[in-house]
Amino acid sequence: MAIRILPEELIDQIAAGEVIERPASVVKELIENSLDAGARRIEVDIERGGSSLVRVRDDGGGMQPEEVALALARHATSKIASLEDLASVRTLGFRGEALPSIASVSRLRLLSRAAGAEHGTEVVAEAGSARPARPAAHAPGTTVEVRDLFFNVPARRKFVRTEATELGHIVRLVERLALSRPDVSFRLRHGERTLLTAPAETGVERPDARLRAVLGEPFLEHCVAVEQRGGPLSLEGWIGLPTAARAQADQQFWFVNGRAVRDRVLMNAARMAYRDVLFHGRHPAYVLYLTIDPQLVDVNAHPAKLEVRFRESRAVHDFIFRALERTLAATRPQPSVSANELVPVSLARVTPQALRSMPRPGAGLALGTSARESLHGAVVRDAPASSAIELPAAQPELTDRPLGTALAQLHGIYILAQDREGLLVIDMHAAHERVLYEQLKAQRAQGSIASQLLLAPVTVELKSHELDAALEQRAEFTRAGFEIDALGPTRLVVRRVPALSVGVDPAALLRETLAAGELGAGSHHLEAAADRLLATLACRTAVHAHRRLTLPEMDALLREMERTDRANQCNHGRPTWTRLTMRELDQLFLRGR
Ligand code: ADP
Ligand code: MG
Repeated sequence: MAIRILPEELIDQIAAGEVIERPASVVKELIENSLDAGARRIEVDIERGGSSLVRVRDDGGGMQPEEVALALARHATSKIASLEDLASVRTLGFRGEALPSIASVSRLRLLSRAAGAEHGTEVVAEAGSARPARPAAHAPGTTVEVRDLFFNVPARRKFVRTEATELGHIVRLVERLALSRPDVSFRLRHGERTLLTAPAETGVERPDARLRAVLGEPFLEHCVAVEQRGGPLSLEGWIGLPTAARAQADQQFWFVNGRAVRDRVLMNAARMAYRDVLFHGRHPAYVLYLTIDPQLVDVNAHPAKLEVRFRESRAVHDFIFRALERTLAATRPQPSVSANELVPVSLARVTPQALRSMPRPGAGLALGTSARESLHGAVVRDAPASSAIELPAAQPELTDRPLGTALAQLHGIYILAQDREGLLVIDMHAAHERVLYEQLKAQRAQGSIASQLLLAPVTVELKSHELDAALEQRAEFTRAGFEIDALGPTRLVVRRVPALSVGVDPAALLRETLAAGELGAGSHHLEAAADRLLATLACRTAVHAHRRLTLPEMDALLREMERTDRANQCNHGRPTWTRLTMRELDQLFLRGR
């Protein structure tokens, strides 16, 4: 075939293949145009999953009569004029190809009226060929109507799925765009049904109604605000608490300068920040807005502009990781707000049903005794169990301390405590595990983990491949406070153990830590592998169920939790404590106050 220049229409259809994949892509391009035009209200109407109609109406700046026809021409845009403009683009669009692409594969009607213009202007096009523009009635703003998408491109039509599937894509897309701009009002309708109504939320700190509409009430109850600034970067938004993590990564929203993106650098930084507080296979929920100097990010990396390229992706990654890390570190027991605003957002509530299934007093309620055995490890960091422990007051005082005063131990598993608000229930092992883990990490950060020489070295029998693995990770073990040596092909001697773990069977400690190390060896991230080792140490060392604790020991653990970052959840992301307020207790007993 001889070389030839392709006809305009065919060029548009090829371009449409890149930008317009399915009905949801049309919705995206049209809403983005409305946002770029400064709309305060956007109304979207869909019929038959978008294949028969997509209509987007806005109250934005509109177009002058002579611009309306031009908007359908290829590479016609009002958003950039030069390469410099492209380098610092602030609008969502700039390529000037959405409208001509859509027009080339549909029946399109564009109606627009600029503020101050006497009337509107209308232009209709079919398969890309437009009829002359003519005056038409329209309020200031723009309406774009796209009918019979892909009617002239059967090959494309085959890729459009069922009405329900396409509608699902559209709903998720509109939700995402609605989150990107809480200050703009959105409404989405499918036929007669209204699927989303999101009035503009201006002058509010948190766009609750919008977050609720998209992520649901549980997210609102279990999220914390993020607000961090650093040089040309700032990060704002809300992140779900680890205890409210999800089985799917379906509630993770990233916005860069207002643009919804799915970006690996950003998602990875968030995943890393949650590493320490989430069990493997769980996913955090979040809505995060990154603001960055437009010069430092290339938004023209993808025709649909879903991906971005950061000039300095390492720095962006580190900033986000640290910002989220810091926010999550603050998830530790805080004093409750007031007697009426009872429960901090972070708490998993004990349901009345759960409470009813608890044993009654007398049946297994072990009051704190002066058990002689002391709590090994560092629960009582500043006051070793054998010496300067304060005796509890005869009547436990009502304190303002976030975790109150210990009353008793329940079934060797929970600590019961009271404060002004009511009853606190603390998962002893989970809490102690977190406290130890944070102490081990802090020691490592300061140089080395305190270790203690065993009076009598302990020999451990291992399979030869286990022994090889132990020797391979010897440096890691040394850093964690162990001293180990091979005594033969299947025998290892342990001479030192981490000081926090004194009292725990050294052989068991070593075996489990070794197993964790093997798991960690698969990790690409060195620090993550080392953390897993410390987490195992902490778990093995933490008080196990059915150990009797004295009241001072329990109190010491509570105080330690209050000082510990991330103490609201154990190393696997489960909650470590919960509060039952007097009011909730009263409700259980139908006692009005
Ligand atoms: P781009 O958005 O990349 O500029 P489009 O093909 O999407 O390209 O739109 C072309 C032009 O049409 C825009 O630059 C804008 O000037 C105008 N336009 C499109 N939609 C609207 C709208 N809803 N309100 C006002 N102007 C619009
Ligand atoms: Mg556009």
